[in-house]
Amino acid sequence: MKIHEYQAKELFQKYNIPTQGGIVIEDATKADEAVDKLGGNLWVVKAQVHAGGRGKGGGVKLAKNKEEVIKYVKQILGMTLITAQTGEEGILVRKVYIAKAEDIKKEYYFGIVLDRNLEMPVMIASTEGGVEIEKIAKESPEKIHKVAIDPQIGICDFQIRELAKTLNFNKIVSRRFSLFARNLYQFYMNSDAEMVEINPMILTDDDQLIALDAKVSFDDNALGRHKDIAEMQDFFEEEESEIEAHKYGLNYIKLDGNVGCMVNGAGLAMSTMDIIKDEGGEPANFLDVGGNANAETVAKGFELILKDSNVKAIFVNIFGGIVRCDRIANGIIKATEITEVKVPVIVRLEGTNSKEALEILRKVNIANLISANDLKDGAKKSVQTAIGV
Ligand code: ADP
Ligand code: MG
Repeated sequence: MKIHEYQAKELFQKYNIPTQGGIVIEDATKADEAVDKLGGNLWVVKAQVHAGGRGKGGGVKLAKNKEEVIKYVKQILGMTLITAQTGEEGILVRKVYIAKAEDIKKEYYFGIVLDRNLEMPVMIASTEGGVEIEKIAKESPEKIHKVAIDPQIGICDFQIRELAKTLNFNKIVSRRFSLFARNLYQFYMNSDAEMVEINPMILTDDDQLIALDAKVSFDDNALGRHKDIAEMQDFFEEEESEIEAHKYGLNYIKLDGNVGCMVNGAGLAMSTMDIIKDEGGEPANFLDVGGNANAETVAKGFELILKDSNVKAIFVNIFGGIVRCDRIANGIIKATEITEVKVPVIVRLEGTNSKEALEILRKVNIANLISANDLKDGAKKSVQTAIGV
């Protein structure tokens, strides 16, 4: 789960990670009051969306007076912001954050990500902050410094010193950086974060280090023990169908292809996507209906798949182990009662009660039901149906 910059900064404050306060508004008429509350004479107006590169896309503006703040708030609120991370369709801005502009002596990149190969969090720092880190990583990787932190030991002094040295900090700043790094690591571990990215972390004219931007994502599976963080979820920023799926205990991820997939078990769902690709097709989604699938959840699965207008065929691939095939068959029937299934459905049922299931399906005589002999046959028929062969 991702959160907004302003929310990440609220959490930073709890961990004594130096950052700046600001005011979030969703209504342009509140800009005037926000400026008065903040004080100062130079401000930034920043779009709050779950995507980086806002500055380049016109979502971060520097304002010299109150009138300019109001002008930019009006401009940014409600705009469709397109950045390198949003894709062409962009993302609607519903919230803006107003903060005082800081004196920037230098911008750095600083963050922590989970390295799945090392099985450890890795702290990353670079003097090349402010611009896209991906670009630096590609063009001049020697400018990015990393230290892997063994979670059993925690972060060590020598590791922080190593990073401080690569950032060319003097003694005083190094001391401040040490505290910054420790607190950030504490935050990362305690909150089950997956990624914390501060780009830029700035050095001010009076040698203070401040987190000026903040991107944080958390491990979804750990949200149960972080109610305060879970409450920060902004549903407007998530794929609507994925949230809907979550409510029904379905594991659904929308993809770009045209073969809808309804599968039980994450492993089988992955193989189904692979085999569809092998047959020259493109899956429209990942959907694991889970072991407790019943008629209702299967019907919901169909509804979700059919919401995607790209879908031209649905491949139902069920191995009846924990879930019984007849349940799935009843779900398919229920789905056709609730929503009109306009596309052909290719069914491969194997395992517990598969014969009964086929019998159930045969009786209802759904117009476009194609049964498959096995996995490969099912994938082939699905792809051919989707491309209209
Ligand atoms: P993004 O990474 O999405 O473009 P940032 O928050 O990093 O958004 O802002 C982009 C740039 O705008 C920063 O690199 C910095 O140069 C400038 N900036 C952002 N916030 C402030 C601020 N409070 N004071 C001064 N400059 C800022
Ligand atoms: Mg940034």
